[in-house]
Amino acid sequence: MRPRPQPQEDPPVWADRVLGRYEGQRPGPVLISIGGIHGNEPAGIFAARRVLADLERHRPPMRGRFHAVAGNLAALERGERYVERDLNRIWNEDELRELRASDPADDSFERREVRGLLGAIEEAARGEFERVMLLDLHSTSGDGPPWVVIGDTLQNRDIAFSFDIPVILGLEENVEGTLLGYAGERGHVSIGLEGGRHDDPRTARCHEAAIWLTLVAAGMLEEAHVPGLEEHRRVLREATRGMPGVVEMRYRYGIEPNEQFRMEPGFRNFDPVERGQLMAWSAPREGRPEEPVYAPQTGILLLPRYQGQGADGFFVARRVRPVWLELSARLRRLGAERFLSWLPGVRALRKDGRALAVDRRVARFLAVQIFHLFGYRRRRSVGSQIVFSRRVEGEHERRSA
Ligand SMILES: [Zn+2]
Repeated sequence: MRPRPQPQEDPPVWADRVLGRYEGQRPGPVLISIGGIHGNEPAGIFAARRVLADLERHRPPMRGRFHAVAGNLAALERGERYVERDLNRIWNEDELRELRASDPADDSFERREVRGLLGAIEEAARGEFERVMLLDLHSTSGDGPPWVVIGDTLQNRDIAFSFDIPVILGLEENVEGTLLGYAGERGHVSIGLEGGRHDDPRTARCHEAAIWLTLVAAGMLEEAHVPGLEEHRRVLREATRGMPGVVEMRYRYGIEPNEQFRMEPGFRNFDPVERGQLMAWSAPREGRPEEPVYAPQTGILLLPRYQGQGADGFFVARRVRPVWLELSARLRRLGAERFLSWLPGVRALRKDGRALAVDRRVARFLAVQIFHLFGYRRRRSVGSQIVFSRRVEGEHERRSA
């Protein structure tokens, strides 16, 4: 077994779901940090412990509550991503309904973890809070800068943009069964952070900085009350020097069930790629000759698959210009999205307008950009139509639906 990366100050105890909490003196939001939802990614737990220790030491005045929990305890104990099932792919409504109806005594490994985590999140958010915010802390097997993934709502943007590191739009909405998706559908602020390589000490450092900056951006702590605030900003800035700001997914290479897929060596997250560049090799199944896979468009490479399972070969993203982000924020604040269903070939599927059925002929490039402008980044094919939907913009929107 590989030795698990653990700095000296963090004893290897994975028994506790709740790592601790710090209660503000005044009402405000509740921020819940989650570390180790993947058991080989303990950095988010180390980071939360440090923040809790600093909060206890300095006792700054705070609005709301900071609450830190651990994710997959059984997998953390083993130092593995998961035991039976990926804990970050089972947060869909059907699964949770089944869980609520079933006997805890029959729980499989990850079901027990979902039950525990769900209980801890509900406990953390018990009481009256301005809003609930989740910060889900991850790390990666390869080297790379820290980056953020969010569902494209204005409330998520407010927090994520304050880190001043790359932000990826259009990914969160299109991965099924994540904790972020679950929280996003409830109208909570939901931020995912990839902090760097699993066993790099800088990873926990980046997570720690992100927790502090979230507390500030959410208006829970004043800047002056954060110990070493400038140092936290510097850590993130240096880790992401030369990286793009906000990018959006433009292309996904999907791997078929029997396909043998092999990435060309040497690619890293955020590498620039040119249309026509050799990216990978693919055979329809084992034993068949490999064919080259070329980049279909110029852009920024994300999540090249070098190991593990999963149906995502690689993604190509591109920068989103600040003027475009500003325009979309303004239009959304004006409520201009209600006019989307007036477009020819577009029909609202829900009363609150969060899902739109779009005729395929209409869903061409320009139309897709319009939907993205309003945060409709989840995309599914249903017969002759494409259904675009977006995450909930705040708990009030969920209640009014
Ligand atoms: Zn992870």
